[in-house]
Amino acid sequence: MKKLIFATNNKHKLEEIKAIIGNQFQLLSLRDINFLGEIPETSPTIAGNAIQKARFIFDLYGENCFADDTGLEVEALHGDPGVYSARYAGNNATYQDNVIKLLAEMQNQENRKACFKTVIALFWEKQLYLFEGEICGQILSQPTGDRGFGYDPVFVPDGYRQSYAEMPSELKNKISHRAVATQKLIHFLQGL
Ligand code: IMP
Repeated sequence: MKKLIFATNNKHKLEEIKAIIGNQFQLLSLRDINFLGEIPETSPTIAGNAIQKARFIFDLYGENCFADDTGLEVEALHGDPGVYSARYAGNNATYQDNVIKLLAEMQNQENRKACFKTVIALFWEKQLYLFEGEICGQILSQPTGDRGFGYDPVFVPDGYRQSYAEMPSELKNKISHRAVATQKLIHFLQGL
């Protein structure tokens, strides 16, 4: 069975992908390969960060691997927080701090359009492949719902009336930006 490293320690993301690709690959997390360090994420773009993380692990281990990176791009804020989504309110910001900062920046803004973007970078047999998922929607004026994480309580995807944080996780995981990018990756892997 071919090895495939997912450059993450996020158990949830790992299980989600494992469940879909089954036994076709031996899917390994950073913990599984005993990587305990920090992977640099210094690119000014989401795609750049995904590539940087995948390349870092590929260069160290020489094995097929992939990494993902996600950001929320708000039109009225000229694409912010974007690549800085995790640390919008500062380096040690919590999800709640980031949401509060976003709502403050969006006060009195009529244009509430925003898009979540995920890029997955895969190194397969030394070749780089990119898979993108984008879901657009609206930023609420106050947090609604208590599921999910990050900006979920203030984002309502187009075509739905609930925020990501109000949806059952099965629904969010089926329609989300990450789900779209992941499905493209899985389609590619299944076609190998
Ligand atoms: P990461 O690249 O997946 O670590 O995501 C970076 C940041 O984007 C996270 O810290 C969250 O603030 C935000 N984020 C990523 N995915 C989601 C999501 O599905 N819902 C809400 N926020 C998210």
